[in-house]
Amino acid sequence: MYDKKIAYFSMGSGIYNDLLTYGGGLEILAGDMIKEVMDNQKLYPITFFHILWKKGYSLQRVNERGEVTDHEPQGNAWEKYLVDTGKEVEVSIFGKPVAVKIWKLKNGPVYYLDTDMEKNGEFCNITHFLYGGAWDQPEKERIAQEIVLGIGGVRAIDALGLHIDGYHYNDGHPAFVGLELISQRMKFYQATEPNMTEDERFQRAWRHVKERTAFTTHTNVPAGNESHSVDLLMEVGANAGLTHAQLERIGGNPFGMTVASLRLASMANGVSRLQVMAAKDMWHWVDGAPNFIAITNGVHPGTWWNPNIKKAFEAKDIHGVYGAHEECKAELINEIKMRTGVQLRQGSMLIAFARRATEYKRWNLIFREKARFEYLIKNYDLQIVFTGKAHRHDTSGKGYISEIYHLSKQYPNNVVFLEGYNIELAQKLVAGADVWLNNPRVPLEACGTSGMKAAMNGTLNVSTLDGWWREAAYHGVNGFNIGNGEFGSNFQDENDAKALMHVLKYEVLPAYENKPVWMGMMFASIMTAKQYSTGRMVEEYFVNLYNYLKS
Ligand SMILES: *Cc1c(COP(=O)(O)O)cnc(C)c1O
Repeated sequence: MYDKKIAYFSMGSGIYNDLLTYGGGLEILAGDMIKEVMDNQKLYPITFFHILWKKGYSLQRVNERGEVTDHEPQGNAWEKYLVDTGKEVEVSIFGKPVAVKIWKLKNGPVYYLDTDMEKNGEFCNITHFLYGGAWDQPEKERIAQEIVLGIGGVRAIDALGLHIDGYHYNDGHPAFVGLELISQRMKFYQATEPNMTEDERFQRAWRHVKERTAFTTHTNVPAGNESHSVDLLMEVGANAGLTHAQLERIGGNPFGMTVASLRLASMANGVSRLQVMAAKDMWHWVDGAPNFIAITNGVHPGTWWNPNIKKAFEAKDIHGVYGAHEECKAELINEIKMRTGVQLRQGSMLIAFARRATEYKRWNLIFREKARFEYLIKNYDLQIVFTGKAHRHDTSGKGYISEIYHLSKQYPNNVVFLEGYNIELAQKLVAGADVWLNNPRVPLEACGTSGMKAAMNGTLNVSTLDGWWREAAYHGVNGFNIGNGEFGSNFQDENDAKALMHVLKYEVLPAYENKPVWMGMMFASIMTAKQYSTGRMVEEYFVNLYNYLKS
């Protein structure tokens, strides 16, 4: 048992399919980590805090014109997983008191914060939609959500009477945790050391908090790093009693949530080795930031490893692995038929592409070399299934989904789009597809955990050398590379599209048609995935991050 008690803050988590407190990879990672900790509660003393998003992220549908629409999920599935702790804390938003109710996961050390109570009036909807959607002023809504998570979260620790040694931020959203902790510590100095000046109190408190904080950064895309003007933060009430000048010293003005997190932490990690290099480039100018170390993400085998594939793999039964995988493929084909009416073929290679719809992930790369793509469809009956969501306010992201929807009409037997990407659908895809396609523009993918889930099931990665794949890839052994991982050229998209067509035609499809070769690669892929489990990741968090925090 590790003795340092850690509070882990995250906007949400994806633990159960119908507990809708997740949107994408960031929350799924937290959910996988929670499950790892729940499997080993005696070993890992981590308590998790996030928000109870009663209306989740978004149910997205695509209408017959190809337009992406957002819908509210119905139902109260969360009721079956959570218990009321009977505890409440209060935060102040626009100068008004807002009550925050604390729920607990029945079977694990996870607390959920919730403002959805009648007495909160107009503020009851702060915790309705993950990443916003209830207010017509999204920036204010987001700040209010982060106040509930950060300031509310620290107060929840006190209300619950928990003893915590260290604090861990899952990305920059929980940065207000540090502001509340500094504020509390300053009050403590004021009471115990009356001769200290205000600035000494601030400096000492900041150092005290920093020595106890770890931060994980998840994005390489500058626009993905949120910032807000200090005036606005003061107006909404994110300062937790600190002054305008103090906020500015911590996060700059505009106040960057990542910049603040770096200055509030003494340990920081990126989620793959390549991402650490990108993060160093991006944040080198932030004075007072810790060095980044790399702790590559992992996934929870109990969630993502199909039991039949696992059983055959553990019996070292190569044909058994292949057979179990073929069964998963048949189930996936069935699911696709049920959802879309399209009948895919068991004997032809099936590619899955499942991810958030955003520019750098290049949803349409495989269509760029149109004639060559059509050649592959015609001669190899290549089949591709797409799924994923765009952020509610991301119109260009929704545009990529529309484009794929129209392409699925153009190639009705070979291209399908599935609505409603969630944990259950991800489980079917990672075990049932033959190939997991991942073609982000290097070096923008932070990690890409879905590729680990696929690898674990013998679904071969075909990927640009980005995120985790850059460190896991053995081309032609456990999967295939698209291009050689170079970046910075003006022709990157064009070159990668050509490289994708080349590798599909000359390497992936021939290997698929040579079953002994393919089966061997499936086995190598599963062996690779052993290193990319949450077990290894949480172990590294303790040894390489938490170990260096003071307590
Ligand atoms: C694993 C997973 C993700 C994250 O995968 P990426 O490779 O980072 O895109 C997102 N959504 C769901 C439902 C997942 O299961």
